[in-house]
Amino acid sequence: IGDAVIATDTLGLITHMNPTAVRLTGWSFADACNRPLTDVFRIVSALTREPSEDPVLKVLAHGEVVGLANHTALLARDGQEFQIADSAAPIRDPNGKIVGVVLVFSDVTERYKVEEALRESEFLLKESQRVAHIGSYRTDFTKDFWTSSAVLDQIFGIDLTYDRSVQGWGNLIYPEDREAMDRYLREEVLGKGRPFDKEYRILRQSDGAVRWVHGLGEVGFNAEGAPLSLTGTIMDVTVRRQAVEALRESNQRMQLATDSAQLAVWDWDLQAGTMIWDDRMFQLYGATREEIHGTVQDWKNGLHPEDLERAITECEAAIKGATPFDTEFRVRHKDGTVLWLKANATVLRDLEGNPVRMVGINRDVTDIHRAEEEKAKLQAQLQQSQKMESLGTLAGGVAHDMNNVLGAILGLASAHIGTQPYGSPLHEALETICKATERGGKMVKSLLSFARQSPVENNKLDMNEILREQVALLERTTLAKVRLQAYLEPNLRPILGDAGALAHAFMNLCVNAVDAMPEHGTLTLHARNVDNDWIEVVVEDNGMGMPKEVLERAMEPFFTTKGTGKGTGLGLSMVFSTVKAHRGQMAIESEPGQGTRVMLRFPACERETPVLAAALAVPEVLQAPHGSLKVLLVDDDDLIQSSVQAILECLGHTAVTTAPSGEAALAMLETGFEPDLVILDMNMPGLGGIGTLPRLRRLRPAVPVLLTTGRVDQTALTLALAHPDVTLLPKPFGLRELQKQLEKIGLG
Ligand code: ADP
Ligand code: MG
Repeated sequence: IGDAVIATDTLGLITHMNPTAVRLTGWSFADACNRPLTDVFRIVSALTREPSEDPVLKVLAHGEVVGLANHTALLARDGQEFQIADSAAPIRDPNGKIVGVVLVFSDVTERYKVEEALRESEFLLKESQRVAHIGSYRTDFTKDFWTSSAVLDQIFGIDLTYDRSVQGWGNLIYPEDREAMDRYLREEVLGKGRPFDKEYRILRQSDGAVRWVHGLGEVGFNAEGAPLSLTGTIMDVTVRRQAVEALRESNQRMQLATDSAQLAVWDWDLQAGTMIWDDRMFQLYGATREEIHGTVQDWKNGLHPEDLERAITECEAAIKGATPFDTEFRVRHKDGTVLWLKANATVLRDLEGNPVRMVGINRDVTDIHRAEEEKAKLQAQLQQSQKMESLGTLAGGVAHDMNNVLGAILGLASAHIGTQPYGSPLHEALETICKATERGGKMVKSLLSFARQSPVENNKLDMNEILREQVALLERTTLAKVRLQAYLEPNLRPILGDAGALAHAFMNLCVNAVDAMPEHGTLTLHARNVDNDWIEVVVEDNGMGMPKEVLERAMEPFFTTKGTGKGTGLGLSMVFSTVKAHRGQMAIESEPGQGTRVMLRFPACERETPVLAAALAVPEVLQAPHGSLKVLLVDDDDLIQSSVQAILECLGHTAVTTAPSGEAALAMLETGFEPDLVILDMNMPGLGGIGTLPRLRRLRPAVPVLLTTGRVDQTALTLALAHPDVTLLPKPFGLRELQKQLEKIGLG
């Protein structure tokens, strides 16, 4: 087509037009000839639509070539518009004088469009790379040089001065990743021609920061297969990497937290009815992944039947949003053990508030529950022992007074029995009285021993020996219907205690066991070392057992389920007090029809300890027998005074002086009274036996003293031991007991 050409004279009137100019402007040469150029060549700025300056006038004014600005639009005669590029030049005559102007222009609409599109796409590419943080590069291996986009430079923190050799590229990579990158490039990309696709760390040059980038690229090869270039993009993925890293870390932390808190996690899809368990859930249930199908039913199957309904109701309430799910329930582990779980859960909802998922955590709180149960048990034990304690105090008080009453009766009856001919009705009556009071005395003794006011001898004992004696005794006495078994650990550690009291206690337990097996059964005795410093003795029968109400009261004194004349209800209470006196522990397990286990524990010992029982040994008193002794009888109870006086008189000691208190007795001694024997009661108002004895000893260092007491306890023993020639005489005593005691100390 060629360019359009229009010529004008010096006034700017058109003198010439070529066909292209005619076609573009829409003016015929005939119409346009001699018209001002601006009629035909109407141009505006394509951007602002402002009329552009007349190029011809500009040339005429300046006398030189003028190029039109870009984006100039030509308006044709019919209003059509063309993008044009043009220039105008002066026409000079041979003398150099301007004689006209020539205007050359061409339609660049198409070219502009293409250029525009190209610019646009270039701009887009640049922008999107910038926005996406994608940098691009091209490495020319033959020139050992690479070029890069501004975004790439920005990612790497480099400027135009940076070393753009392959070596310079390598220096950008994080030192620890260089070797791997080298190998990857050599073997995978250049060696096998695979596309470059890798995330790696770089060192940002501007600030030394470590950044993650993702590189994608392709190698160009020459015909011989030698690599020529590598072209590709680099994207900064640090933020994404950090997010992934943070997520992984937070997952790890979560795992750590659930691990260390021993939390099991479950996730229940409420719509699908499926449930996902973590490993610890499987551990809690003792199940393997093969056995669990991932449904809610699995969870229900594991629940303890007694808690099932409640747990489900609570779940439903939580799903409804009524209450938070915060509960405890029992599950059955596969091995049969029952675990207590604490469960908390959250219900996740969609935008409309419909429940979608329930996510929960379970924690094994079995130990806490056990501890609570243990605490409750201890509490009950404490209450029980407090009850026993107060009952003991009561029983002790009653027993003390009862002793004096019995003592008076026994004293008088035994004193007078000798005065009656043997076989006479009165003799027999007195004998019955003596027997009855003796039985009453035994009863009081039991009561006192329950009240823990009788002494515990502290001998080193072999419990096995005591139990063996029991077995031997039982074998002789029980009927063949009860089978006896004894499991006695050979190296049973010794304990400190009172063999008689213990034998008595075991006899009580065995009698109870035999009573509980009227038809037939097995009585088993166990003795073994436990928990380092204890020995345990278990008396077990498979008899009728006890209902709860009986078990709760079995150890109370006087509680019995046996008919009158059969049971006293003192057996277990005595056992209990004997065990307590040995600093031991006692527990009974029993269920109706399931038999009974009585478990006793005693602290074991190693060392020899002094034997307190020596206090009860009779001191050697070398004193000539007397015919009639001058006796000072100190007792506040006139019943005792008269009965003991009667006994003494029977024994031939007629010179009996009585004193109602320690103070009165001391006053007599101070005024010169010289008794051969003092019978001193422990329990009196005022000084009492305890206060009187030392003062008496100071006044009469050698006079023998019989210390009488209803409670042969530690106080009495200590007192007797502390002074020479003092002998304990347990109340109640009759003529025979007193006589024996006097014989022992050489006064009989
Ligand atoms: P007693 O034997 O005189 O009744 P205990 O104090 O020895 O008094 O026992 C109290 C009660 O405890 C008994 O009456 C009986 O009901 C119950 N008991 C004790 N030992 C057993 C046992 N081994 N089996 C069943 N019940 C027992
Ligand atoms: Mg009994």
